[in-house]
Amino acid sequence: MVLYPRTLKSRIAILVGVLALASAVLASLAVLHPMRQQMRAVVGNQQAALLASTAAALDQQISDRRTLLRAVAESAARERGLRPGDLQPLLEQHPVLRDEFDNVVVLDASGTLIANLADRRATGDRGAAKSRTFRETIDTREGVISRPYRSPFTGKPTIVLLEPVIGADGSVAYVLGGALSLVNARFMGQFLASRPGTSAYFFLIDQHGTILYHPDASRVLRNVWREEGGITEVTREALEGFEGWTEGVTKEGQRALIAATHLRRTGWTLTVVYPTAEAFAPLQQGEDAAWLSAAAVTLLAAAAGLWLVSRFLRPLRRLHRQVDMLAAGTADIGVLDSARADEIGSLSRAFFGLSQQRRAAEERLALLSRTDVLTGLNNRRMFEAELPAAIARARRQHQGLVLAFLDIDRFKDINDTFGHAIGDRVLGEFADRLRRSVREVDTIARLAGDEFVIIFETIDTQARIAPIVDKLLDAIREPFACGGMMLDVTATVGVAYSTGKVAPDKLLKIADDALYEAKAAGRNTWALRHVDVAADPLKDAGPPAT
Ligand code: GH3
Ligand code: MG
Repeated sequence: MVLYPRTLKSRIAILVGVLALASAVLASLAVLHPMRQQMRAVVGNQQAALLASTAAALDQQISDRRTLLRAVAESAARERGLRPGDLQPLLEQHPVLRDEFDNVVVLDASGTLIANLADRRATGDRGAAKSRTFRETIDTREGVISRPYRSPFTGKPTIVLLEPVIGADGSVAYVLGGALSLVNARFMGQFLASRPGTSAYFFLIDQHGTILYHPDASRVLRNVWREEGGITEVTREALEGFEGWTEGVTKEGQRALIAATHLRRTGWTLTVVYPTAEAFAPLQQGEDAAWLSAAAVTLLAAAAGLWLVSRFLRPLRRLHRQVDMLAAGTADIGVLDSARADEIGSLSRAFFGLSQQRRAAEERLALLSRTDVLTGLNNRRMFEAELPAAIARARRQHQGLVLAFLDIDRFKDINDTFGHAIGDRVLGEFADRLRRSVREVDTIARLAGDEFVIIFETIDTQARIAPIVDKLLDAIREPFACGGMMLDVTATVGVAYSTGKVAPDKLLKIADDALYEAKAAGRNTWALRHVDVAADPLKDAGPPAT
């Protein structure tokens, strides 16, 4: 089920939250990404520089030992008539050799071991004669560093520095060989101590790919090209000459910052592997802190946004209440905040307009409900509402009240002769004439068909009735101009006069009775009944006898 927020408030709230989150993430990325790149470069360059100095130190270690060996070789070469037997004492004269090498031997030009610092009795071996490094020393008459091998004496991975002793004839008379174990603390110790971190390690290989040093001792003297799983990308590049730093994956699948450099004198490749988890730990901590503060900023921004949204929507809620009140009729349209300049203001104005239209429509409806459509006079309903009020007013003011009941004479004939339309126009004109002949305060209504009633209030004496009725009949007497014809219309009037308490329907009935009586008397006349004596119908007044 898709949860779609129903209210505008929740939608805006979600939008605010998403925007706050997106801006925090974008801002953090914008700051962190270049910072991360720079920091990585700083750490990487630092590692590369450290490695370069470590390589230089290692180079120096080898160089110092070669210098030492060369110095011994030269001192031997200077001795005139040096015999093979003199070489063991010569080695022993230089105790420093014991400090710097695991062992030092002397071979004659045929490769026979003639002096051995570690064990003076272990001489005579001819194994070196076949050694490529030995041959190279003889041929080049230069110092040579052997390929690493496992020493048959110590069992340790070892290299041998060979240095020729040049005889008086210019050829190689002897060869000094200084064996150096690759786990020799004096030789490797300093280099191992310069590890940049606890999880970092050095990795030293010669130019052929033979591992000279690796913390995993089982890999020492193996060849990286032939190892199980193949050579790693970074090692291959390093062997091909790459120097510097990069981020890569170790043989164990660990991501690491890997720096590589080459030893100038030996051509060996020194690599430092620094797992990124440790190398970039401070950077990671910084990033974590940055994300944490971004999250805090997001929360704050979202909370502030929510509060603002709630505030902005407050006028909308108020408008809702106002419209509810308007609908319930508990408030007038004046409650709307239509003066506001914002969208709420225009919405309020729209509601205001709508309410005005509704009010006008209601008023029109109310008017229609109490008006007779044909004549524009009050209808029966209005009359029935007005009559009790008029009776009550008259009683309060101790005044008489007259109800005149008019009926057009022989109206059916007009309809039958001239048609219903003409009949309607006669009714309209009849209504207009009645309207013109009474006061503003008098109430005229059309009850039905050709029946009309008029309420006259504040009639203090009965004597005032006759002139009023005469005025009405006079107004009707003029011929009616309808549809190009002049019609003679007459009406008969029944008048009820009340000076006391009377029920409205009774008053109407008495007026109707008076009308009936006047009709019977021949029409175009009127009859009066005084209500208070109406229990016994008595014609106590009427039109002058004609
Ligand atoms: P009387 O002198 O006894 O009053 O005779 P009359 O012909 O006027 O009889 P009555 O008052 O009973 O007839 C009223 C007639 O008015 C009956 C009806 O056809 C007609 N009428 C009622 N309403 C209308 C109307 O709205 N328009 C028209 N043209 N005629 C109407
Ligand atoms: Mg009539």
